[in-house]
Amino acid sequence: MHDLMRRLYPICRSITGDGLRETLRILRDIIPMEIRDVPTGTSVFDWTIPKEWNIKDAYVKNTSGEKVIDFKKSSLHILNYSTPVHEKMSLSRLQEHLFAIPEHPDWIPYRTSYFKERWGFCLSQNHLAAMKDGEYEVFIDSTLTDGSLSYGEFYVHGESQDEVLFSTHVCHPSMCNDNLSGVVLCAFLARYLSEVKPYYSYRFLFIPGTIGSITWLSKNESTIGRIKHGLVVACVGDAGKPTYKKSRRGTAIIDRAVIQMFRHSVKEFDVKEFSPYGYDERQYCSPAFDLPVGSLTRTPHGCFPQYHTSADNLEFVLPENLGESFEYYTKVVAILENNRTYISTNQKCEPQLGRRGLYSLLGGRKDAEITEMALLWVLNLSDGNNSLLDIAERSAMPFDKIMEATLLLEHHGLLQEKR
Ligand SMILES: [Zn+2]
Repeated sequence: MHDLMRRLYPICRSITGDGLRETLRILRDIIPMEIRDVPTGTSVFDWTIPKEWNIKDAYVKNTSGEKVIDFKKSSLHILNYSTPVHEKMSLSRLQEHLFAIPEHPDWIPYRTSYFKERWGFCLSQNHLAAMKDGEYEVFIDSTLTDGSLSYGEFYVHGESQDEVLFSTHVCHPSMCNDNLSGVVLCAFLARYLSEVKPYYSYRFLFIPGTIGSITWLSKNESTIGRIKHGLVVACVGDAGKPTYKKSRRGTAIIDRAVIQMFRHSVKEFDVKEFSPYGYDERQYCSPAFDLPVGSLTRTPHGCFPQYHTSADNLEFVLPENLGESFEYYTKVVAILENNRTYISTNQKCEPQLGRRGLYSLLGGRKDAEITEMALLWVLNLSDGNNSLLDIAERSAMPFDKIMEATLLLEHHGLLQEKR
């Protein structure tokens, strides 16, 4: 995942344009996703697909001809969606178009201007302070023309047509936690799921933030009902504790599955209620759709100082953090995949476990007591009304223990799956 991130890092992405498409093409080395294009001007609910932005080069030169700001050194140097310009101007005029962060004098900020046509450069405060009075040549070789918005979609066929949605935004230029971490995790999770023949079908979306999810929802309204669970994948590469933001519903299976995983797999974690601010869960959880989609991150967006700056780089996101996050996601998938409902074949009193060798099987095992409790919980609550997640929650036991006990009881003919 980190190697893939390193490959994607230098590309200047935006909500449209060649950088976004190049990123999607590179991701096709991992998964054979579809790349879809929606033309400029298309209405998507209350929004319109914007003009496509592309950039070849941009710089600011001093009178000696030295490039004092050079887009080729970092894609963050350009105000994303800058209009073209080629002019000479004084530093004081140029300064209206320069953006820095005084509180972090070494970092380049990330700024965009999607919906207002203007141009600008971003640079560190130290870099800005070192610029001397005088005349500068400003050059931005960009285009803002009719084109299309592109996004990637990958579908894993499961046994069921019911779907789990994973959505990640792929529109940010050279920054890692937000959100190349989400992009690479989704790519590898998609590949993993395509190799295991899952029960659910899985849909992965690699989309520009906001406008991408609005576009996808507007084009897929008729099949949205198939989405039974979903997660927005972002900021999964920093060292912070995992954080879950609940879906708008608040008590959906996905909300409970993530919290169940946290309780038994993670020392420290945070759970936040839904709010209509954040990433694409805002669109998936808009009132007409109200999809069971939450967001599983590490440190949430805006809560780490490196957020939307050049310090959100390849050193800020470490392979081991990506690996841990990947494990959180696969554990949640395991809960969703195995959350069935069973009926005990002995509803009148407990079955005699000893006669079936289930007690002797447990004798002497270190975890015997846990397994025995799990057997008793599963037998007692399997009346056809409780799923395995219900049982795990009520018994305060890890889902995999409940799962293990269920398989054992099913093997001995003491449980039947409710169909
Ligand atoms: Zn962002």
